[in-house]
Amino acid sequence: MSEPLFDKVALVGIGLIGSSLARVIRREGLAGELAISSRSKKTLDRVRVLELGDRYAADAAEAVRDADLVIVSVPVGASGAVAEAIAPALKPGAIVTDVGSTKASVIAQMQPHLPDTVHFIPGHPIAGTEDSGPDAGFAELFEGRWCILTPPEGTDAEALARLTTFWERCGAMVDRMDPGHHDMVLAIVSHLPHIIAYNIVGTADDLEAVTKSEVIKYSASGFRDFTRLAASDPTMWRDVCLHNSEAILEMLARFSEDLSALQRAIRWGDGEKLFEMFTRTRAIRRSIIEAGQDIDVPDFGRHALAHPEKP
Ligand code: NAP
Repeated sequence: MSEPLFDKVALVGIGLIGSSLARVIRREGLAGELAISSRSKKTLDRVRVLELGDRYAADAAEAVRDADLVIVSVPVGASGAVAEAIAPALKPGAIVTDVGSTKASVIAQMQPHLPDTVHFIPGHPIAGTEDSGPDAGFAELFEGRWCILTPPEGTDAEALARLTTFWERCGAMVDRMDPGHHDMVLAIVSHLPHIIAYNIVGTADDLEAVTKSEVIKYSASGFRDFTRLAASDPTMWRDVCLHNSEAILEMLARFSEDLSALQRAIRWGDGEKLFEMFTRTRAIRRSIIEAGQDIDVPDFGRHALAHPEKP
């Protein structure tokens, strides 16, 4: 195994993303020492049992002391409070990053608290599942996935290169983006699909003419695939909606217009229009598979990805 990239890494927040990072950091030997912090005793006790780190602390400031890389992996609405708590303990020259699903809001919350002596480089790995907590993580989560970094202007080139190498060693491919652009892109590829899924599953749940047991029994006809997204963590998604509201509302407006056009085509029996649209969208699925962002198996390859050791 090669030299650790960082003498000490601190993970603040150790749910799905934090624990996946802990596992890959361990596997790849990326840290000389790994400190882990989570606000609850229950989570901290669990990560001790799982032996995910070298040191554990309920106090985030204690965990980040002397760390060369600090990764904040908490719901985006909590990132400001975490930055405020860790700021006095940060080592000059340390890289501070996050994994939050929104970027402009996280920067607005964290930046004012962080000292000028650290390199703040926000990030977002485009990888996840509907599960949460330290048991849900796995070392392969970032394999072949993109991680978007949104470095502020004037970011130290060496710090940026080190963080890029870190994510690459975790198996990810790294892209750079402006935070506002990130929030717009993610609104369409991630936030809107989740909102639509929450909505359709809620609608089915509220129906009176079709029973809940029928919805569940016949779910393999399409509904099932929405329920995976709609089972995602409520705290995380509440925060995403509140913290990327502008971009999400803009995408929702576009979506509603397009849905009205679809509704009109159905009402007027415009089969040609429906066929043309469904053909166009089918090609997008093909492109995703060709880009290596999914595999062409009935469960979308998720079983194989989440449990690589199982057949
Ligand atoms: P998770 O599994 O629910 O874990 C959340 C972690 O944050 C836990 O350690 C939890 O501590 C801590 N936490 C929760 N509320 C907090 C608060 N108010 N103050 C301080 N700490 C708090 O979450 P996750 O899925 O890893 O998501 C973490 C971040 O990654 C989020 O910003 C999310 O947007 C982003 N992200 C998620 C995904 C995904 O698919 N899940 C993908 C990419 C990025 P306790 O357990 O001790 O309460």
